[in-house]
Amino acid sequence: MRLRSWTTLSLMTIAQVAWGQTSTNPKLVTAEATSPEPSVNSYTVLGATSEQETLVRDQIRIMQPDVYPLRVLFMSHWKYVETARTFRLHVPAGYTSAMFTHLPSRSVFIDSDRYVSDDSLGYWVAHELGHLAANSASENAADKAAREYRKRLKDARKPDVH
Ligand SMILES: [Zn+2]
Repeated sequence: MRLRSWTTLSLMTIAQVAWGQTSTNPKLVTAEATSPEPSVNSYTVLGATSEQETLVRDQIRIMQPDVYPLRVLFMSHWKYVETARTFRLHVPAGYTSAMFTHLPSRSVFIDSDRYVSDDSLGYWVAHELGHLAANSASENAADKAAREYRKRLKDARKPDVH
């Protein structure tokens, strides 16, 4: 298993970054004491309906991302916009505007009012997981990493593939 020093943020630090501060340096790397490598079910899903939580967990499990999020937050549109503003993030219009990722805290924020279907949820979550895998705010890097995840999602929908 590859060592990724930036995965070792303590929960305390993550909570502070996610909720207390507006530090948005996407390249933020800390080298604190080790914490367990996040795995399939070690992340938190917040604000989702039970259907949404089941769906997003299934999709993430199928995609087998190189880097798992620490939390996935579903929120209403106004809250989403407010959160993006708090992080001083530029949310590109019409592109990934239904979700964004805060890299330092490995948090994926999803606008519950904006994603339109189960498939579009998976499609865009793949992009956000791509940001995490690349540890980059670059849209190109995220899409490049997302390609494999989207393929796995697609393959999982084929009934004859096991
Ligand atoms: Zn993006």
